Amino acid sequence: MPTQQEHAQYYIWTLGCQMNVADSQRLASELEKLGLRAADAPESADVLVVNTCVVRQGAEEKGVQRLHALNKIKRQHPTKVIGLMGCMVGVRDPLPLRKRFPFVDVFMAPSDPLPMVEFLHERGIEDSQAVEAEARALQDALQDELLILPAHERGNLIAAHVPIVYGCSHACAFCIIPFRRGVERSRSVGEIVAEVRSLARQGVKEITLLGQIVDRYGKDIPDGPDLADLLRIVHEAGTAEGLQRIRFLTSHPNWMTDKLLDTVAELPSVMPHIEVPVQAGDDEVLRRMKRGYTQAEYRALIERIRARIPNVAINTDIIVGFPSETEAQFMQTYQLLEDLRLDKIHIAKYSPRPQTVSERTMPDDVPEAEKERRRLMLDEQHARISAERNAEWLGSVVPVLVEAKQGDKWRGRTPQNKLVFFADDQERRGQTVEVEITWTGAWSMQGRLPGAATLPDPLDPLRLEVIN
Ligand code: SAH
Repeated sequence: MPTQQEHAQYYIWTLGCQMNVADSQRLASELEKLGLRAADAPESADVLVVNTCVVRQGAEEKGVQRLHALNKIKRQHPTKVIGLMGCMVGVRDPLPLRKRFPFVDVFMAPSDPLPMVEFLHERGIEDSQAVEAEARALQDALQDELLILPAHERGNLIAAHVPIVYGCSHACAFCIIPFRRGVERSRSVGEIVAEVRSLARQGVKEITLLGQIVDRYGKDIPDGPDLADLLRIVHEAGTAEGLQRIRFLTSHPNWMTDKLLDTVAELPSVMPHIEVPVQAGDDEVLRRMKRGYTQAEYRALIERIRARIPNVAINTDIIVGFPSETEAQFMQTYQLLEDLRLDKIHIAKYSPRPQTVSERTMPDDVPEAEKERRRLMLDEQHARISAERNAEWLGSVVPVLVEAKQGDKWRGRTPQNKLVFFADDQERRGQTVEVEITWTGAWSMQGRLPGAATLPDPLDPLRLEVIN
């Protein structure tokens, strides 16, 4: 048997959103098909890839830092292959990037691992006969699989992502994504189903369907299914292969139909969990953001979601300090969140991005210190409201899909996507276990199997991460 040493190895850094996580998974799959294996550490990798995010300046800088580190490695080991993927590359001509980062061998647009596959073919990276033979054996064994999980993830990866809509054509004033991921394109039902089944056969129990505006799925396919139809199809096909849970994100307030909400409520594998960013709570700010709805409409939507999906968790995104956002306008956002008591909020400080309408036409005039003050205010409000929302689950017994061991506890999620930790000696990974909630915090919960002793546990492990 060939040892790990004989395989060329790869290492992928993934920055940014779930779509990037999904894209990295697809790149890994292509590399596995070529006979490469995931490296335990970057030092031992022959192929090193950074999958980048540019949604905010800070994210872009992280990618650039990583690239500089790779430049050093490349100078010491010129045969190593360096790849740059994702939104820093975008769908444009990589020539300017090639000039800026001449040590990068391969540039890959978001969701497109093909250039790396071609490069490695040309380079003849699969040069060991043993590796070639093994790669062929793996492909024979998994030949029906559209997507091959890395060996260490097969049977171990419980939750995975499947893109269903690439790109975005909405063009919110602040957002760079349409410029970097291209126009909106839905994937075919056949391709999505094949991928979901493939993942389920390799042990995945939960799939999150992804799109920038996921509820617009199918709008570009003549007589195509909508997201509700697709959920039904994925539910049938996926559960037949052992899939337990389906989620989808991100929703846009204007595209959430009653049909979709009723389908979520009806299908047992589709989780009561909605991600629907509001971005701001003031109508004038929303208008200048080009979001396409008012705060009253958003409030009505939340009511409609809650009325149609029992026990639903609703999460949102907020941008503070959008150009010329006044204190009073910000307080509208604060009040909206106070009233709606959503489950989870992702708060970002406005960051002007190249090519966007706001960057071109609106001065970034809210001072950094003021942005930070607004962010902190929402953060504190969020911690308080989340803690209160989570406390409503205290004492109830909830089905937890177990994802992994963390320390001496099992870590899993409720249907509402809330994190739960519990102790149990048995192997639980990949199982859905009924857990009684015994402690709740703002960021996670602790529980026990009914009948088991309650362990003293005053600290919220995630809070520690946040503080660190
Ligand atoms: N397509 C989704 C989200 C895309 S990006 C939507 O329609 O909402 C993820 C989040 O990043 C956004 O929800 C927004 O809150 C944040 N974001 C995007 N552009 C930003 C910018 N220029 N500055 C700060 N935050 C931004």
